[in-house]
Amino acid sequence: MKRVLITGAAGFLGSHLCDKFIDEGFYVIGMDNLITGDLKNIEHLFKLENFDFYHHDVSKFVHVPGDLDYILHFASPASPIDYLKIPIQTLKVGSLGTHNLLGLAMAKQARLLIASTSEVYGDPQVHPQSENYFGNVNTIGPRGVYDEAKRFQESITMAYHRFHGLETRIARIFNTYGPRMRLNDGRVIPAFIGQALRGEDLTVFGDGSQTRSFCYVDDQIDGIYRLLMSDYSEPVNIGNPHEISILDFAEEIIKLTGTDQKIRFEALPKDDPMQRQPDISKAKEILDWEPKVNRAEGMKKTYDYFKSLSKEELHKSAHKDFSEHNRK
Ligand code: UDP
Repeated sequence: MKRVLITGAAGFLGSHLCDKFIDEGFYVIGMDNLITGDLKNIEHLFKLENFDFYHHDVSKFVHVPGDLDYILHFASPASPIDYLKIPIQTLKVGSLGTHNLLGLAMAKQARLLIASTSEVYGDPQVHPQSENYFGNVNTIGPRGVYDEAKRFQESITMAYHRFHGLETRIARIFNTYGPRMRLNDGRVIPAFIGQALRGEDLTVFGDGSQTRSFCYVDDQIDGIYRLLMSDYSEPVNIGNPHEISILDFAEEIIKLTGTDQKIRFEALPKDDPMQRQPDISKAKEILDWEPKVNRAEGMKKTYDYFKSLSKEELHKSAHKDFSEHNRK
């Protein structure tokens, strides 16, 4: 049985990856420090014989007994609210954490895939963004802790590949959504759906003319899996190119939820990218991959998930805070 280590296993993408690799017949070792992840995302796996879990922070030395064939590094805060609340941990998991996992991959002769991001393109001046665009990032802005950690992560990963001959893969992940997103992570989809379910106004930042392109999680996981199994070591964009303005998207959510919520305009956060759309020609050509789930279908599944949460969860989750972790 092939063995895979997935970091960030209790998070949104990490937990879906655990499910995917279990379905593909792997022995899956999940790892998470549970700062932003939640064990309820993977609790259905604990009864399986081919699943194991380590509660560990990968920015500290990582030890895993036995062989490993693959490592997927998905541990990281991944929303603007998290970067503001836990900036140091965000920097450490992308830099020190990646270094530790590269060392582990060397020791185990495992192939490592890192979760990079469209944030490496910053507030892009080229549209749509293809992999050869170098980006427009403010190193010292609020998003800098994430963007620069991820850019460093790509650099150190390529250095290990070139210098040590390590097998590495780099997925540049664009906005992705679906069940198990954290309701209080501040990202636009859980924010809007949570607001609609609580009967609050939908908060559109700026005038809502900024755009995003949302990829349903099943498509994202399929793309990542194909990339891992490919022989391509340079970065590949994985995302859905179907672009929409945030204002139009808010209106779509009001229709979807059948609520009569109003839209409230709030200040645009600093360095909020004005437009984002992946150029996925490379993924099409190399991985024979493109998204299959359209937004109406994906949003319905996502809304059904959020509707199934208890009232308590819906309200409590708006107030989770990170003060305990910030003291560390
Ligand atoms: N956004 C918004 N209202 C919210 C949360 C987010 O208008 O309550 C906007 C945000 O300013 C950004 C877009 O939605 O332009 C996507 O934000 P998100 O945090 O989901 O992702 P990212 O900016 O990292 O792509």
